[in-house]
Amino acid sequence: MRFPRQPTVSRRRSLLTQASLTNLLVAFSVVAAGVALVLWRQSTTFGQQLELRAQVAAEFLANESEFPLLIGDRNALQLVAKSAATREDVLYVTIVNEAGETLAQAGQLAAESSNSRNRAGVEILPSKIEATRVVRQASANGLADWEGDRAPSKRLGVVRIGFSTEKERVLFAQLARDIILTPFVCVCLVLFVQYLKLRRLLNPLVRLIDFTRSVAQGDLKQRAPLGAWNEVDDLSIAFNDMVEQLDASRGELLHLVDQAQEASRLKSEFVANMSHELRTPMNGIIGMTELALDTPVSPVQKEYMEGVRESANSLLTVINDVLDFSKIEAGKMNLDTEPFDLRELLEQTARAVALRAHQKNLELALEIDAAVPCQVAGDANRLRQVLVNLLGNAVKFTESGEVLLWVEQRPSGPAELELHFLVEDTGIGIPAEKLRLIFDAFTQADGSMTRNSGGTGLGLAIAKRLTELMGGRIWVESETGKGSRFHFTILCEIVVEKPVERKPASPEILRGLRVLAVDDNRTNRRILGAMLAAEGTEVTLAESGVEAVRLLQHAQEQKRPFQLAIVDALMPGMDGFMLADRMNHNPNLTRPVIMMLSSSDLQSDIPRCRRLGIVCHVVKPVCKADLRESMLRAMGGAATEPAAREDKMNESLRHLSILLAEDNSMNKRLATRLLEKRGHKITSVSNGREALEALEQARFDVILMDVQMPVMDGWMATQAIRERERGTEEHVPILALTAHAMKHDQEQCLAAGMDGYLSKPFQPAELYAAVESIAGG
Ligand code: ADP
Repeated sequence: MRFPRQPTVSRRRSLLTQASLTNLLVAFSVVAAGVALVLWRQSTTFGQQLELRAQVAAEFLANESEFPLLIGDRNALQLVAKSAATREDVLYVTIVNEAGETLAQAGQLAAESSNSRNRAGVEILPSKIEATRVVRQASANGLADWEGDRAPSKRLGVVRIGFSTEKERVLFAQLARDIILTPFVCVCLVLFVQYLKLRRLLNPLVRLIDFTRSVAQGDLKQRAPLGAWNEVDDLSIAFNDMVEQLDASRGELLHLVDQAQEASRLKSEFVANMSHELRTPMNGIIGMTELALDTPVSPVQKEYMEGVRESANSLLTVINDVLDFSKIEAGKMNLDTEPFDLRELLEQTARAVALRAHQKNLELALEIDAAVPCQVAGDANRLRQVLVNLLGNAVKFTESGEVLLWVEQRPSGPAELELHFLVEDTGIGIPAEKLRLIFDAFTQADGSMTRNSGGTGLGLAIAKRLTELMGGRIWVESETGKGSRFHFTILCEIVVEKPVERKPASPEILRGLRVLAVDDNRTNRRILGAMLAAEGTEVTLAESGVEAVRLLQHAQEQKRPFQLAIVDALMPGMDGFMLADRMNHNPNLTRPVIMMLSSSDLQSDIPRCRRLGIVCHVVKPVCKADLRESMLRAMGGAATEPAAREDKMNESLRHLSILLAEDNSMNKRLATRLLEKRGHKITSVSNGREALEALEQARFDVILMDVQMPVMDGWMATQAIRERERGTEEHVPILALTAHAMKHDQEQCLAAGMDGYLSKPFQPAELYAAVESIAGG
C-alpha cells in the first residue's frame, strides 16, 4: 500500500535551526549594545583626562613665559619652550607675542601649529589634542590671570602646546578588543552548548519523522521507537496504533485483491471455454448453411437459409465481441508487432464495408495522406478490427450521404510513427449527453435505433481499449442529425522500406493524359482529383453529367479533347450511362475512352456497358493501385491480367490425401464435404488415438487435427506423431483446428509440433487456403 508522499521538510528550516538562529540574534544584539555602551563611556573618560592634562601643561607654560615675554627675552622663552617639550608625548610648543610674532618653538613637530582648536572628547580619541593660554602681565598681587578673567590686565602673548594621543589610542584599541572578544566567545560557547542540548531533545522527533516516511513507503512492519521524553513517546504510541490498524486492513485488502484476481482469472477462463463451446456449433451452423445454399433449393428455402446464415454471423460477432472484451479486461490481449502494408489494409477494410454502404446508397470514400508510409509495423488485425467497427457503425447509423475514412501521419519520435484516423459520416449523429458514454461497455446512444440495427454496445468499448493498447486514444465529435466524426490515433513502428518494394512510378502513358472525372459526390471528386493528379494526369473535375458535357464541348473547341473520361455510374439527373451515351452519339466530339465508377459489381450492367463501349470499371471506394491498373488497362498498357493469375493458381492445385481428426460429427461432415468439393480425399477419425492408428495404415499429405478431443487430444496426438517421425525424413504437416481464439493457444499449438492453426468457425476459403498452403510448404 502506498501513501501520497508529503513534501519533505527542508533541514534548513527545521525547528533546531530556527531556535539556534533566534538565540544567536538575541545574544548578539545584547552583547553588541553592552559593548557599544562601555566603549562610549571609556572613550569619554579618556578624552576628559587628556584634556585636563593639556590644560595643566598649558597653564604651567603660560606662567613660565610671563616674565620673559614682558622683557622680550627670546633666549629665556626658547629655554622655557624646550623644557616644556621634553615630555615624549608633547608634539609642539609655540610662544607668540602680542603682535603675533613667534618668539620660541620646540617639540617633534615644532612647525605644526594647528588653527583648529582640537578639543578632546569631540570625537572618539583624536590623533592629537591642543591647549592654548593667553599670557597676561601679573596683577598687583603678582599672579597671572586666566584667559577670560574679568580683571583687566595687559596681554603679553599666547602659548600653545600640542599633545600626541597615540599611547591612549593603542590602550583604547586593546581595551576595545578585550571588551568585544570576551563576551563574543562566551556567547558562542553558550549557544553551542544550547544547540547540542536542543538537538538531543529533537532527535526522537527526527526518528519519528523517518519512521513515518518508511510507513508512507509501505513498510507497515516497523514500529515507532520509544524511550524519548513523554510527549514524543505518547505520539509514538499513537502512531504505532495507527500503523497496526493499517497493517491489518492492508492484509484484508490484499486478500480481497487476491480473491478478485482469482475471480477475474476464472471468469476469463470461463469465457474462453464458453467461446470454444459456442464456436464449435457455430462452425457447423454457418458451414452447413453455406453448403445447403449451394444445393438446388426453392426460393423460399433459400430465403430462410440466408436468414439463418445472417443470424449466425451476427451471433458470431457478438461472441467475438464478448470474448475480445473479456480478454482485454483480463489483461490477456497481447498485440503483435509485425510489418504490414498499411495502404493495402486500409483499402481492403474499406472494400469490406463498401458492399453494405452501397446497398444503402451511401458513398464510401478513402483518403490517405500522401505522407503516410506503406510499410509500418504493428498489429494489423487489431487495427482492422477498430476500423471495421467504426466504419460499420458509420454505415449502420447513416441513411443518406457519405462515409469517409481519412488517414494522416502525425509528427512523432524518430523510431515511431503516429497515425491519425478519421471516420466521418453524415448520419443520425449522437446526442451531446451520450457522447461521453458511448465508449463505455454495453452502452448505446439510442436504444430504439440500436434495436433496429443490432449490436452489443461493446464495439466502441473494445475500440477504445484497443487504441489505448496501440499507444493512442479515441474521441468523437458529433451533432445530432448532422453526423459523427470518430477520430483515433495509434503508434506504429517505422519500417525501412526497401527500394525494390516501392511501387513503380506512374507509367509514361498516364503522364499528361487529359482526364475528365465526373462524380456528384464532393468528397469522392476531391479524392479522385488528388489520385489522378498524383498519377501525373491532367485532370478536370465535373459534378454532374450536364457539366461534363459542357466541359467536353469546351475542350473540343480548345482543340484539346479529353482522352479519358472516368464517370460515376449513379448520379442524379444524367447518370453515367446516359453521359456515355451522349459521348457516343455526339458527332462533334472526339470520344474519350470511358471508364465507369460503380458502387457494386457491374455484373447486371455488363451488357449495357459493352453496348456503350465502356472498357472497364472501378469499384468504389477507389484506391490508388486499382485506379492506376484500370486506367492502364483502359489505355491499353495493362501489365497483369487477373484471369491469367487465376489460371496459375488452379494449375498448382493438386488433390490431397487428408486425415481429419475431429470428434464433433457435424463439423466432421462439414469439413469433409467442403474438402471433397475441392477434390481432396478425406479419411476421418474421431480422436487422437484413431488418428495414430490411421497413420499406421496409410500415408497422408496433411492432417487436420482438432485440439480438444476425447480419449487422446490433438496436442498429445501431435506429440506422438512427431515422436514417431524422429530420426526419419518424414514430416506430415499438421493443421490445428481449434475454437480457442486465445493467442497462447496458437503458441501452444506451434510448440506441440503443429505446423499451422485455423480457428473455428472458418470460411471455406480460409480452410482451403490453410490446407493447401500447409501441404504445399
Ligand atoms: P454497437 O455494437 O451497439 O454498435 P458500439 O459500441 O459500436 O456498439 O456503439 C455504441 C453506440 O454508439 C451505438 O449503439 C450508437 O448508439 C452509437 N454510435 C456509434 N457510432 C455511431 C455513429 N457513427 N453515428 C451515430 N451513433 C453512433
